[in-house]
Amino acid sequence: MRVLVTGGAGYIGSTAVAILLERGYEVNVLDDCSTGHADAVSAQAKFVNGSILDIGAVSNALKGCDAVIHFAAKSLVGESVEKPDLYEDVNVNGTRILLAEMAKAGVRKLVFSSTAATYGEPEVIPITEDSLNKPTSPYGTTKLAVDQMITAESKSGLAAISLRYFNVAGAFESKSGWLAERHDPETHLIPNLLRATAQKPLKVFGNDWPTKDGTCIRDYVHVVDLIDAHILALENLEVSNHKIINLGSGGGYSVTEVIDGAAKVIGREIPAELASRRSGDPAVLIADISKAKSLLGWSPKRNIEDMVGDTWKSQNASTGN
Ligand code: UDP
Repeated sequence: MRVLVTGGAGYIGSTAVAILLERGYEVNVLDDCSTGHADAVSAQAKFVNGSILDIGAVSNALKGCDAVIHFAAKSLVGESVEKPDLYEDVNVNGTRILLAEMAKAGVRKLVFSSTAATYGEPEVIPITEDSLNKPTSPYGTTKLAVDQMITAESKSGLAAISLRYFNVAGAFESKSGWLAERHDPETHLIPNLLRATAQKPLKVFGNDWPTKDGTCIRDYVHVVDLIDAHILALENLEVSNHKIINLGSGGGYSVTEVIDGAAKVIGREIPAELASRRSGDPAVLIADISKAKSLLGWSPKRNIEDMVGDTWKSQNASTGN
């Protein structure tokens, strides 16, 4: 099977490309490298350097493909509040173009990178796929709009699964080197705490949240487990059917717990200081992952120590190919 991976130069996309190739899939990549890195794309993939908004590039990238895994998107909550039009354009219009070109090319299989941000501030924990969708940012709103667009498209034959990620972390050692988060600026907790120094301590965004230790609780899932779920999704697509499935670990860690756990993994204290709350952060996000278990036969195999340990190893090695 040949799979088009849109956003295949990004953190999660490039990991998907490497794992798909290792499992014997053929891969095309479409990425404009606006946030991704061309050197993260395996040389074995056919790489189209172009935007999801460029109809010609999308149609070229789809050539010979049987299925699409669609990661290409803008994905920062804070940036989406500042630039809602950019998020509408890339995430919604980009997917509209992709779906139209897939229909033209007769490619009727899609796995979509959705997000827990579609649920917003949850009323009930853990969050099931039936929880209310009340996104609190343009990022979440645009991803929800895409999920709805895919549901509509499934009525005309598309076989699709949207995977709603909670907090993705960790790194993957591919045959040609480590693939890891290389965001600029980096906003995510685990890469940031591993880079913290006495001069530039980690900022802990609030310790007055309604949680056991006052810091926010998140559900972290290892990027390799996440990609395993994508491949299972790819193999379990059903014609004219769109499923929405949460991906997390089903448990949560507070920011303080992640910091303490990371200190144990790397054998030294993590310099940290208290900062004010970050706007848009909900107090607690934990996934109910029973649907992933029952529909995909998936459950995560790697724990928070693996996520911290692999990120640490990747930061101490060269990344890319
Ligand atoms: N966080 C933090 N300091 C940082 C980065 C993140 O305290 O430098 C907190 C953040 O407020 C949230 C949790 O860590 O409660 C996870 O944040 P991250 O940005 O990794 O993922 P998000 O939950 O925003 O998708």
